[in-house]
Amino acid sequence: MQPLEVVYHPKYEEDYPTASVESPERVRVIRQELEGNFNFVIPEAASEEDILLVHTHSSFQEVKGHTLLFEVASLAVGGAIKAAHLAWEGTPAFGLIRPPGHHASPGSHWGFCFFNNIAIAVEKLIREGKVERVLIMDIDLHFGDGTHNFFQGRNDVVVENIQEEERNSFLHRVDETLESSLPYDLIAISAGFDRYRLDWGGTLEMDDYRIVGERVAEKAMSSCHGRRFAILEGGYYIPDLGKNARSLVDGLTES
Ligand SMILES: [Zn+2]
Repeated sequence: MQPLEVVYHPKYEEDYPTASVESPERVRVIRQELEGNFNFVIPEAASEEDILLVHTHSSFQEVKGHTLLFEVASLAVGGAIKAAHLAWEGTPAFGLIRPPGHHASPGSHWGFCFFNNIAIAVEKLIREGKVERVLIMDIDLHFGDGTHNFFQGRNDVVVENIQEEERNSFLHRVDETLESSLPYDLIAISAGFDRYRLDWGGTLEMDDYRIVGERVAEKAMSSCHGRRFAILEGGYYIPDLGKNARSLVDGLTES
């Protein structure tokens, strides 16, 4: 089996204009935790054509009006696309990217999100004919409305938000989600860490992220040639954010 690769660009640590809580520190602490343990891959920026797979022209133009933000947001989309392609080729991947994306709908955005990284990456794989059915599991504290809105009504992409507020129910729901429904060609995770015990959600233990990663890895190995990737969404408790991400990534690596 291929070892997991981390998709990362130094520009993700730029201080572009956004809410102060969505800080460059977030990526820095995770990078420091993963560096030396995993191979890092540098992505290219996504093209306008890629971004328009999901977003309206006016939404694209609005973000483009902020030079630095647009540069980093395009690299975040490119990072998600790279992670998705690695996964499709059989290399599990973690997109250590920012800004996050799951609150970006086709024509609007909020919650520190600008372009919907995971939606664009998955839609691109489908348009390229590489996959036919994808499961997107969103484990962030907040409901991924942008991803939901884009794929709503589609039967080739199933978006499951795990919203259970109690630990055991949360993990049980993860299992149910992975066991239910038809086979998938790939599993993608919108990986927010804000449901962590010391973060805003106050629910999950650090080791729970490893458990989630392991379950996804096992399911992917048994049903879709091991194709799996995760990308960073939320997570704001800086002291443990790196270790939480490491926990998920370690789980995703195992099978
Ligand atoms: Zn969140």
